[in-house]
Amino acid sequence: MTSKILLLAGDGIGPEIIHEAKLCLLTLKEIFSFPIEIEEALLGGHAIEQTGEPLPADTLSLAQEADAMLLGAVGGPKWDSLNPDKRPEKGLLQLRKHFQLFANLRPAILNQHLTNASSLKSHLVEDLDMLIVRELTGGLYFGEPRGIEKKGNVDFAYNTMKYYEPEIERIARVGFECAQKRNKKLCSVDKANVLEVSQLWRRVVEKIHKDYPDVVLSHMYVDNAAMQLVHKPKQFDVIVTENMFGDILSDCAAMLTGSIGMLPSASLNESEYGLYEPVHGSAPDIAGLNKANPMATVLSLGMLLRYSLKESQAADLIDQAVSDVLAQGYRTVDLYEDNMEILGTKEMGEAIRTSLYSLSEAL
Ligand code: NAD
Repeated sequence: MTSKILLLAGDGIGPEIIHEAKLCLLTLKEIFSFPIEIEEALLGGHAIEQTGEPLPADTLSLAQEADAMLLGAVGGPKWDSLNPDKRPEKGLLQLRKHFQLFANLRPAILNQHLTNASSLKSHLVEDLDMLIVRELTGGLYFGEPRGIEKKGNVDFAYNTMKYYEPEIERIARVGFECAQKRNKKLCSVDKANVLEVSQLWRRVVEKIHKDYPDVVLSHMYVDNAAMQLVHKPKQFDVIVTENMFGDILSDCAAMLTGSIGMLPSASLNESEYGLYEPVHGSAPDIAGLNKANPMATVLSLGMLLRYSLKESQAADLIDQAVSDVLAQGYRTVDLYEDNMEILGTKEMGEAIRTSLYSLSEAL
């Protein structure tokens, strides 16, 4: 059966990195002869400019027909002054909500060739391999009521952090199941000393734990978790947390791995339909300069092949090719190290594809 993949380039560096990932996908199609169809559609700022909407109806209907989506990133200063409902990010939030992509998997793995690129001393991060499971369709980013209003002469703004028990249950199950496939350690991050939402979160996670007795569960307050991530990051196996805490902690974990340009992510629903995207944003400061690191997007393609298309051999080949180019001493500017060869976005994409071909000869 032919799998349909929808590419959403988005804004900023999005088109550059998605182009390299697309060429990698075509290379893998040639190597493994799997039947895939690629479609492309608008999302975010460019979608607003061309259609007036951050998530156009055509994009949504292509997404409904697709087996998986690969996104670059959305947003940029050009659209920052728009009303929150019309901003590029709204399109992405709508997409996540529409497909109920509640489980955001963010692996933070330090490639053995990037130990010196990490912000931390190498002995703290060597062999780091952790996974952050972030709840993606609830919490503060979606809670109603929200708004900016005036009371008398004073402006005020408010958001609502809200979780229903079933929302916590399903993300907790994803956390426990991920831990079962790894080192069987799950740390649930909350702020239960201050927030009622976190008190419910903790109670529900403990209830679900009874179904996964082989997993060791711990709880940590989010402020401590931020500190522990830079103090002793290797203590973590899997972290499960709510939407905003996960957003912040995963950027923090990104720096442990050398650059935010190395971190892929998968956002899945209960049928394992997924949106795959790098953890980073649209990096408007380097857009169009051939400086963006395409590896997080290429690794996100690897996750797409693994989770949604079940093409694990192709996914493994992507992981190996990324490692291989780093072993050869190739770096993008965000990973700069002395004595390494700096490549642009296009050239790094080309190096990954060359490696895909040469590694495939050994299959
Ligand atoms: P950002 O991740 O875009 O950039 C932060 C820093 O990291 C910048 O210095 C940037 O140059 C660098 N960087 C990011 N990705 C890189 C890559 N692949 N290679 C090399 N360097 C890279 O975060 P930001 O500056 O806070 O946000 C910029 C825009 O992106 C905003 O409009 C924001 O809303 C949007 N954003 C979108 C998403 C998404 O689409 N999922 C996520 C986060 C931010």
